[in-house]
Amino acid sequence: MSRKVALISGASRGIGAAVARTLAKDGLDVILTCVQQRAAADAIAEELRALGGKAWVAQFDVRDAEASRAAIEQLLAETEIHIVVNNAGVVADAPFPGLTSEAWHRVVDTTLDGFFNVTQPLVMPMVRRKWGRIINISSIAGVTGNRGQVNYAAAKAGLIGATKSLALELASRNITVNAVAPGLIDTEMIASAPIEEILKHVPMRRVGTAQEVADLVAFIASEKASYMTGQVLSITGGL
Ligand code: NDP
Repeated sequence: MSRKVALISGASRGIGAAVARTLAKDGLDVILTCVQQRAAADAIAEELRALGGKAWVAQFDVRDAEASRAAIEQLLAETEIHIVVNNAGVVADAPFPGLTSEAWHRVVDTTLDGFFNVTQPLVMPMVRRKWGRIINISSIAGVTGNRGQVNYAAAKAGLIGATKSLALELASRNITVNAVAPGLIDTEMIASAPIEEILKHVPMRRVGTAQEVADLVAFIASEKASYMTGQVLSITGGL
């Protein structure tokens, strides 16, 4: 059987890097995208090639429709893409009265335009192949809401709506579309979060690891998850 190829947006660090490593260890070829940290993405790709598979790096801003389309077209000229993990994301927290238009758009556009720009060119080839996995990294904030994160929660809730709708469109084509909603995960993204305060509300009293999220993503990406679509899988330590 030929190897499947997974594109992971925002794979230069954090959860995306853990997903890329885990899928590569599971025997997939991987495409890592990044926007700024090219050297980090290149180093991970090099590490993954040493496992025997292929690994590509593509550097583009997922908010930029033209740049995204050009990068993905170039990749599609080289390889099929069977799985997409929409992981690129940012936070720009502020209480709503102080939330700037720039912070609103940076967060919403990265998540929602990013989902559209990266996923849309990959769907028709999946439909023709009658197989695909689309995995969207949302957040528990998109399910419950969170103070100081009106932009982030709106973006992540929007991504859940897109997940459920696209799942309905693609189910008959054997393409699953699911969202993962992590709680507090130990990456650079939470570097300035009041962790001790948040942990008071986490029943497991600890942050999660990127690897724990990656293992869930790897399951959803696998054949084993073939009858699950349109779902939001929380991974929050019970939060
Ligand atoms: P990190 O900040 O560690 O990594 C973010 C990644 O996204 C980087 O690879 C970065 O690329 C990439 N990225 C950011 N903006 C863009 C852009 N405009 N275009 C392309 N790539 C971009 O974040 P995490 O690993 O913590 O988060 C990964 C996902 O998980 C995000 O969607 C986040 O919202 C979600 N999440 C995280 C939680 C957490 O507690 N950590 C909790 C819930 C959800 P580069 O390195 O090149 O800048």
